[in-house]
Amino acid sequence: MRALVKARADVGLDFDPARPVPSRGQPGPREVLIRVLKAGVCGTDRHIWEWDDWARSRIPVGIVTGHEFVGVVERVGDDVTTVRPGQRVSAEGHIAPADDYNTRTGNAHIARGMQIIGVDRDGCFADYIMMPEGNIWPVDERIDDVIAAVMDPLGNAVHTVMAAGVSAKNVLITGVGAIGLMAVAVARAAGAARIFTADINPAHGQLALDLGADEFYDVRGGDEWVRDLRAATRGDGADALLEMSGAPDAINAGLDALRNGGTAALLGLPSRPFPFDFNSRVIFKGATVLGVNGRRMFETWYQMEALLLSGRLDLGGIITHRIPMANYARAFELMQAGEAIKIVLDIND
Ligand code: ZN
Repeated sequence: MRALVKARADVGLDFDPARPVPSRGQPGPREVLIRVLKAGVCGTDRHIWEWDDWARSRIPVGIVTGHEFVGVVERVGDDVTTVRPGQRVSAEGHIAPADDYNTRTGNAHIARGMQIIGVDRDGCFADYIMMPEGNIWPVDERIDDVIAAVMDPLGNAVHTVMAAGVSAKNVLITGVGAIGLMAVAVARAAGAARIFTADINPAHGQLALDLGADEFYDVRGGDEWVRDLRAATRGDGADALLEMSGAPDAINAGLDALRNGGTAALLGLPSRPFPFDFNSRVIFKGATVLGVNGRRMFETWYQMEALLLSGRLDLGGIITHRIPMANYARAFELMQAGEAIKIVLDIND
């Protein structure tokens, strides 16, 4: 099969035209072989492409990359009962060990020993991927392939919005890249009162406004915007912060803009540790700070499907490019140039 492989401990990915199909196409008793139709390109894939410190420390050289996809079931193992060949599916890409404390208590998304497809084991930038049956998500026929291909990052956005709770609240979203923009649409659909957004990219800010944000602050000019946000909220600040950027300046300013007693849900990953003032930004503020990791399995998936089928979730404009897998290098060029928000690779179409 064709596959994009991290074949060398260096920048880039290699196109392998003759990678063996996983397990030679024979699923184990509770495994499912999926023919991949489309796959989303993620910031994580960019880290793997760029071979930065994180990628060097985590990625086994030789794996097939990619973790966001939609496909069609090709073959199932003998003991599989919940899916059948021909069914259109996506899948939760976090594979949790069954015996972990958190797996057994309803929090599999933070199980120790978690394996992520395209990060710890073979992923979906390939003609075929093998998944455990328990990770499969059958896709409703009303959901388009392009949207089904990005249910993984959409799930990050839904998980963050639901963790913070946004209904009837003034919400601040710092960082409106692909997931931050999805969070704007989700927060709007989930009944946020007002949505404030902040980013360094005015084009993304315009899209945030198009998707239902009430305000966009271009933060390149410094932190004055925090005062503007307070002025717009009776001096109090935002009820909820959804931090999507991982930028220290955004984390600091976002928490400054949070009202006392507010809730901050943090999804963005800082690229390195940084000094942080707990006193003013968390402790005296009485803030609730939530780390958000992955998607709740499978609560987030049910929420996503419900939102998508409600017709209230408009993701228009977030998927800016569709590119054939063979032209994958172009996808990474566009991301590095800041010209793409979300790119979907056509694998088998
Ligand atoms: Zn991703």
